[in-house]
Formats: sequence, C-alpha cells, structure tokens
Amino acid sequence: YDDKDGLIWMDGTMVPWRDANVHILTHAMHYASSVFEGERCYSGKIFKSREHSARLLESGRLLDMKIPYSVDQLEEAKAEVLRANNLTDAYVRALAWRGVGEDMGVAARRNPVRVAIAAWEWGAYYGDAKMQGAKLDIAKWRRPSPETIPTAAKAAGLYMICTMSKHAAEEKGCSDALFYDYRGYVAEATGANVFFVKDGEVHTPIADAILNGITRQTVIAMLGDMGIKVHERHIMPEELADFSECWLTGTAAEVTPVGQIGPHHFQVGQMTRKVAETYEALVRA
Ligand code: PMP
Repeated sequence: YDDKDGLIWMDGTMVPWRDANVHILTHAMHYASSVFEGERCYSGKIFKSREHSARLLESGRLLDMKIPYSVDQLEEAKAEVLRANNLTDAYVRALAWRGVGEDMGVAARRNPVRVAIAAWEWGAYYGDAKMQGAKLDIAKWRRPSPETIPTAAKAAGLYMICTMSKHAAEEKGCSDALFYDYRGYVAEATGANVFFVKDGEVHTPIADAILNGITRQTVIAMLGDMGIKVHERHIMPEELADFSECWLTGTAAEVTPVGQIGPHHFQVGQMTRKVAETYEALVRA
C-alpha cells in the first residue's frame, strides 16, 4: 500500500504518499507504542468524527502517551487530508506513535509522539457478499484482561492476536474470527463488535474487556429508539446455540450479518436487515 498517488498528513504537513516513511528505529516498531483510529467518511462527512478524535487522544492517554494535538486540530487535519486527496467517500486512518529517541530502550519519555492521517477509498469490509452472512471461526486466542493491558485503548499491541486469528480463520474458509475473553465469555471479532437476537430482543457482550466500539454505541442507541430491548451482559459460548440472528458492528464492517460461528448457524433475519438499513441511512443523514 506504499506505492500510491496521494498525500498523507504527517505531524502537521502534507507528504506525498510514497514518502510517508519512518525510521526503522522508531520506538513503536519495536515496542508497539502506537494507537490508531478507523473512520469512515460518507458523502463528505466523517461519521462521528469528533468521537473518533477524542478516542484517539484517550487511547494515547491510556498508553501514557500525550498526543500533541487537540480534537479541533485533528478535525482540521482530517478535513485537509480528504480535501487534498479529493475524497468524499473514504476510510480515514489516524495513527499516533512514539518516534525515534536518543537510545533504544523501552523507556521513551523523550521520544517525540508523532501523528499521521491517511485516507483512501475502501468498500465493504467483508467483500461483496456482505449481506449473505459472514462465516466466523472461533479464535484460539482470548481477549486479555483489563488488568493485563488497557483494553479500552485502540492500541496496536491488542491487534497482534487479531492478525493471527484472522489468518487462521481465513485458512479455514471463514471471513473472520470471534474471540472469547480471558474469562471465557463471548467478546468481539478481530475488528468488530458482536450482537445476537433471541425472541425479538438483542444481546451483546458488556464492554468490560472489549473495545466499546463507536458503531456498537450507535447501534445500541438506535435499537433503543426502535423500541427494542438490548441486554449488555456476559454471554457464555454455550448460548450461541440459542440465538437466531447475529451481526457484527464496526466502522469498517458497518453492520455485517453473520451466518455462522463455528458449528452454530444464524439467519440473516428481519432484525439484522432492519438494523443494517437504519445504520446505512443514519451514516448518510
Ligand atoms: N473491536 C475491535 C477489536 C475493533 O478493532 C473495532 C474497530 N475499531 C471494533 C471493535 C469496532 O469499533 P468501532 O465501531 O469504533 O469502529
């Protein structure tokens, strides 16, 4: 993805896409001192843009890393990137990381905290078959405890097991993997939150060891407006057999129906379709 036309915002200036590089001794490359955001711009407007900027700053804070920009400055930078690349419908990736320091130790107080923002066109996350129902594998790895790592941060270090689990899933013909958490409860997919339907009500893992996705929060509020009861709670793997419908939520995934998790099958039912349609209307409103 490095050989493309376009401009990337780096530490306050626009840099040609091919020149947006960092040195190999960047702290983040060695010690995962990196946080990021994934955002979507619809018809010229980034959905929940300020929420994403605020989460980036909060992820930095959780990693003890002061990002040297305000929400307003990040908003201006994102607008500049979209303008410079002539994009109205795009995925936006903001990234903050610890750069090169005076030595190569773990401590990095004096390494500069750097920020970059790139944007590009990106269609359906699970491909054209999005509404057919994705097939999920169950990950071998588990989401860690919030006492092990700051699970509320959207931090690079949390994605190591995501890449491994997604590869394993794809090798089995699945499009993604569902994680259980450190206690064995149903948690989230590698880049999305998960929802289930039973008897006309919705069940979703409580966000005590997962990323509390901005799409997740949007969909919970949306279901409330639709008069549908949502239970945020601990969900046991055995319960997967009791649910009739399932979908994933995420900025990239939007609302993606799930047809299968391991041996369990789900319908792409009425509720899933309604939630997907309502979300699609909302992001473009
Ligand atoms: N969980 C994980 C692990 C993710 O990477 C994402 C994508 N950011 C989500 C959940 C969904 O978050 P959001 O709705 O804010 O994109």
